[in-house]
Amino acid sequence: MKRKMQAAVVEQFGKPLVLREWDIPSPEAGQILVKTEACGVCHTDVHAWHGDWPLKPTLPFIPGHEGIGMVAAVGSGVTIVKEGDRVGVPWLYSACGRCEYCLSAWETVCPQAQFGGYTKNGGFAEYILADPNYVAHIPSGIASRDAAPIICAGITTYKGIKQTEAKPGEWIAISGAGGLGHLAIQYAKVMGLQVCAIDIDDGKLAHAKRLGADFVVNAKVGDPAAAVKKETGGGAHGVLITAPSLIAFKQGVGMTRKRGTCVLVGLPPGEFPVPLFDVVANCITIRGSFVGTRQDMAEALAFAAEGKVKADIELQPLSAINQVLDRLEHGDVASRVVLDLEN
Ligand code: NAD
Ligand code: ZN
Ligand code: ZN
Repeated sequence: MKRKMQAAVVEQFGKPLVLREWDIPSPEAGQILVKTEACGVCHTDVHAWHGDWPLKPTLPFIPGHEGIGMVAAVGSGVTIVKEGDRVGVPWLYSACGRCEYCLSAWETVCPQAQFGGYTKNGGFAEYILADPNYVAHIPSGIASRDAAPIICAGITTYKGIKQTEAKPGEWIAISGAGGLGHLAIQYAKVMGLQVCAIDIDDGKLAHAKRLGADFVVNAKVGDPAAAVKKETGGGAHGVLITAPSLIAFKQGVGMTRKRGTCVLVGLPPGEFPVPLFDVVANCITIRGSFVGTRQDMAEALAFAAEGKVKADIELQPLSAINQVLDRLEHGDVASRVVLDLEN
């Protein structure tokens, strides 16, 4: 008889996740099995649960792409990790390794990429099957629960900030100060940028200030783009939009300085209007950014292991997953909830 584990399973889009037993998978050749210690809950898990995006996961599935744990078993032929190593199983679960994107360190857009907690089962479970070539290697100086948010929220914002091409001393506007945003503020400060944080929640904005934001704007009050332009003397050199809200996208483009770059990482379903004249006449770049490469992962984790960036976490048991997703959907999570699977 197969051994069983506890898992939180999406059986139908938008319906509560079902906490149930699931067969512990056994690693085949080239695979590893990870015993989950902690797994962060990302707003992407809300989109996955609702089936918000054009590419939908196949039901039933186990969400979670911020799972950290120990390698419990390795399949034949695996040499790059061994039992007892501590790894993370991220959104970029695997890629082909051979296409033009993989060869040029853009494996995040590999057409054969698989996604953890989405096209492959993820970390809302006691065990996760993983591809050893794409796991995150967790440095020893950081607890699993603290590392969890870094492997999605951290890498995504670290890479997104790099993609704005804003230079030390210049301004970055970070729209959304939640799970992604609270880490973005810290990465941006470490990278020498002046930071404006934008949110619709005064509590999150107060926290953004404590984390180092130089000034904050409540997007619900007045015209947030005008407020950013005034404070920065013409707009932010880089803008990073993490807010899962369409209105934030139009506002973010409006905050961008002439010749600046507005990077989109938030993924609310839908489209947003772009004021063509403003974008063209001001030579603004609008750029999508999707998690990060394995090299970005190592860099993002190194900042955290050195204590320069620290996720602000709230621990919850796996059994609380439905309340957590509900709170996340309604903006009621301060920064990041991490599921504690050790106890
Ligand atoms: P979160 O819920 O923790 O944080 C979102 C924050 O945005 C909250 O603080 C909320 O108050 C704020 N917000 C809502 N509306 C706003 C508005 N109009 N203006 C400014 N702020 C507003 O979510 P998260 O986990 O940080 O994820 C955010 C988004 O990023 C999701 O859509 C998620 O799917 C996406 N995401 C994308 C990538 C990627 O690779 N591109 C990776 C991870 C997450
Ligand atoms: Zn995520
Ligand atoms: Zn590829």
